[in-house]
Amino acid sequence: MCGIVGYAGRGGAAGEIFECLKKLEYRGYDSAGISTADRGEIFTFKRSGRVQCLSEGIKSLPGSVGIGHTRWATHGAATDANAHPHVSGAFSVVHNGMIENYAELKSELAASGRKFLSQTDSEVIAHLLDYYYDGDLADAVRLTCARLKGCWAIAVLCTHFDGFAVACRGMPVILGRGDANYAASDVNALAGRARERCILGDGCMALVTPRGIQVLDGALAPVKPVFGALGAEEEGESGQDCAHYMLREIRCNARTMRRTCAAFLSSGGGAELYSRLASADMIVLVGCGTAYNAALAGARLLGGAYDCPVTARLAGEARCDPPRVTRRSVCIAVSQSGETADTIAAAGILRAAGAYVIAMTNVGYSAITRLADRVLPVCAGPEICVAATKSYIGQLACFHMLASPSCAALRSKCICAVADDVEKLAFDGEYALVIARLCVNSRAVFFLGRGADVEVAVEGSLKLKEVSYVFSDGLSAAELKHGTLALVDEGVLSVVLVTDAALADKCKNAVEQVLSRRGRVAVVTTLADVHAELCGRVDASWLLPAAPAHLAHFVAATALQLIAYRAALLAGHDPDKPRNLAKSVTVE
Ligand code: GLU
Repeated sequence: MCGIVGYAGRGGAAGEIFECLKKLEYRGYDSAGISTADRGEIFTFKRSGRVQCLSEGIKSLPGSVGIGHTRWATHGAATDANAHPHVSGAFSVVHNGMIENYAELKSELAASGRKFLSQTDSEVIAHLLDYYYDGDLADAVRLTCARLKGCWAIAVLCTHFDGFAVACRGMPVILGRGDANYAASDVNALAGRARERCILGDGCMALVTPRGIQVLDGALAPVKPVFGALGAEEEGESGQDCAHYMLREIRCNARTMRRTCAAFLSSGGGAELYSRLASADMIVLVGCGTAYNAALAGARLLGGAYDCPVTARLAGEARCDPPRVTRRSVCIAVSQSGETADTIAAAGILRAAGAYVIAMTNVGYSAITRLADRVLPVCAGPEICVAATKSYIGQLACFHMLASPSCAALRSKCICAVADDVEKLAFDGEYALVIARLCVNSRAVFFLGRGADVEVAVEGSLKLKEVSYVFSDGLSAAELKHGTLALVDEGVLSVVLVTDAALADKCKNAVEQVLSRRGRVAVVTTLADVHAELCGRVDASWLLPAAPAHLAHFVAATALQLIAYRAALLAGHDPDKPRNLAKSVTVE
């Protein structure tokens, strides 16, 4: 989490870094700060709050080199003092990640008389750099990094160096070349600025000046960086002006479905994947948050297509209690960013135990792609809103492709037909507002469904709580009477999903159970007869475009995303940046 930026160019460093930080803000928005160096002096401005808080203060920062940070606090509250950069002597540093042995390092440094101004783990890095520096920046960075435990990426400014240094272990750093030279946590920050990009190798460092970029390994031996052009996707999306990224990204759901299917079909590797899955003794899907919810749907789809047991596991749990895999087992690690620490750890453990690892991710150059045996692209494009929407839809499409060993082309065709309806819904789904209003006026919201709708209900609930902060839960409608019904009264809303005619009667039972306890009900259905029957009896009924039961989750999930978006706005929250959260969860 958190975004770091470095810039070395021909002037105006602070303004350039400010623009890059705005594009990284989805990674954390507790505080922001920038340091620049000019004529042997470091200038710093930092504040708690969003990047925008820097807009005035940085105008006075001179210099053509600098570093910047947008924070997701792990150690210490979101205060000005804890904001990065942290300065010690000739050094200023920004840090992404956690220093696991910071307490030990801090006592050691404090014992030698060093004063700490923050509660962060990061400040020890600035002091270590200052302690080890004897005129050679690369060596000071090497010696400092050798003392740090955990996963981190750092950018370092030194008054004696016309540029900055970056180093990483287990966290991403992308180097960029253009009219100036850059480093950033995510390539999106460099869109429209750098022309070429390169991933800094794990355990390596780079010395970046206005004239060039030198990459060194952990022992300071030179490494030749391999730069590639910034792809069209990485340059960001244009058009579709919406008030928020969340809505704009929901409106990309259909395109993501089409692109993800097309990428799978054109990759040419389907046959090998299918035979590996068909001969697997176990398929384990791992993910966190929304990616885990996609994995729940994936387990249902793959379970119907292959003979072996298929399970979805929370990555954070699977890494501590891994299933017993063999060389015939397949692990599918699902992560939008490809940087999710728990998912990477779980996939790594399963791979070490013999499993074949497939990374299903939206980011082609991410850490999980470097660990996996095979990469399955989710073609959602950059996803900026912290709450995942289009990437979830892309993950569903990817699972459909994997679950169609003999009919992928036909399945893709059907998905593309559903995509047309998803598109219309995303642009015209005004009825979402009616249900969103019910949500924000309720003490709690339960999303209920049967069959494949259970997974959609769970994801719809996560979306609502993430962006509107309304308490919610998603569960099987069959489970209602086994506990949750105790909470139902006139202040509680149940959103009942009905997309499979074969299960409609069972869903209607749940509606009756809630109504008879005076609970409020909103029905979300793709079935015209269910809508006709219930719309006069419940608080709201939303008839979605019809879709085959096995593909209806694309439509239903889009509808629930729209409800969550509208609820966030009604509750007065920024849907793109929910409190306490950040995207790309690179900490454990
Ligand atoms: N651990 C550091 C802090 O709390 C950095 C967190 C981050 O990656 O944003 O300041």
